[in-house]
Amino acid sequence: MERTKVVVCGATGMVGQIYVAQLATHPWFELVGVAASEHSAGRPYADAARWYIPGDIPSTARAMTVLPCTAEAVLATGATLAFCALPSDVAGPVESSLAAAGMAVVADTAAHRMDAGVPLVVPEVNAAHLTAVPPKSSRGTAGFIVTGPNCSTAGLVLSLKPLQEAFGIRRVVVVTMQALSGAGYAGVPSMAIVDNLIPFIRGEEEKMARETQKMLGTWNGTAFEPAPVPVSASCNRVAVLEGHTESVLVELEQPVSPGEVEAVMQAFRGEPQRLHLPTAPDQPLIVRPEPDRPQPRLDRLAGTPERARGMAAVVGRIRSDPAFPTGIRYTVLSHNTIRGAAGNAILTAELLAARGLL
Ligand code: NAP
Repeated sequence: MERTKVVVCGATGMVGQIYVAQLATHPWFELVGVAASEHSAGRPYADAARWYIPGDIPSTARAMTVLPCTAEAVLATGATLAFCALPSDVAGPVESSLAAAGMAVVADTAAHRMDAGVPLVVPEVNAAHLTAVPPKSSRGTAGFIVTGPNCSTAGLVLSLKPLQEAFGIRRVVVVTMQALSGAGYAGVPSMAIVDNLIPFIRGEEEKMARETQKMLGTWNGTAFEPAPVPVSASCNRVAVLEGHTESVLVELEQPVSPGEVEAVMQAFRGEPQRLHLPTAPDQPLIVRPEPDRPQPRLDRLAGTPERARGMAAVVGRIRSDPAFPTGIRYTVLSHNTIRGAAGNAILTAELLAARGLL
């Protein structure tokens, strides 16, 4: 099978590097270009990227000359699919211009997440939202944009989806402890975070609420109808490198025991698992029995097979709540640059390919 040619925009950043690492051996996608800011354009990738992932830069990317993020430069590579991991303030116009030029764009940025007609997808949660993407036959020369959620929302919706399906959800209260890499390489100065935490992440609490509602909602054929589930989020930055941990309280529609919650979470599977997509984790939600798990250092790379490391969210401490008769509390952890960004986007692109939309 001929592989789909892809370019990564923002390839030198925290998320971009995960793309470069994961695409190096991808069976369906071939990395043919890396693009970044004017500061990096024209330089060899190995010079421009401040590589932070254990192991070497993949040989396929090392000597690639970094491109500017223009439709002209990206199209000249022969790519038909672009993954975008650019800062939100520059991402919107770049993603729009690539889609207008005919490309399929899968983006990690906030720019188009809430646009009418643009799916916001965690493949196990709302694969059905991809029916908003017009089939190839009716697209003419236009491409399309599909987005993934904010990194803290990805793990949360994975844990909520089986509860919504099995029991119904009234409301959600979540407190996050988010890793430094979620803010990008230059995001949080070391003098601000060592021996400290920061109880504020601009815009994050609002994003968690509206993105969760969009993903747990439905596509009615012409618009996305958000789920009527209020989400109260409090977001904190902590001195962890990778992996967002979240304390969740869910008020369900009916009284349910912790054992029943564990059973539906462990049994949860989505379309990626049914289709055996290349980076689909065998089990997207793993429940740990130990009283002190999940922990970022121990659990952030959960997921089998090897290609799906970091794609499973890990849940622990499932318990009833003394204040809410139908409340259930638990802790969920997910890898922010893999499940919360590049890995989720690659899985979404695999789903688009499997549906004949690329
Ligand atoms: P980052 O480490 O700061 O990387 C930003 C990337 O964008 C770099 O490749 C940078 O290139 C490029 N860039 C910056 N300004 C540009 C411009 N004017 N034109 C073209 N390229 C430009 O950020 P990140 O953490 O990877 O995040 C990227 C995006 O993903 C953000 O929108 C973020 O909100 C989103 N996201 C991040 C995470 C996460 O966990 N980090 C999770 C989900 C979503 P240079 O190296 O040349 O400057």
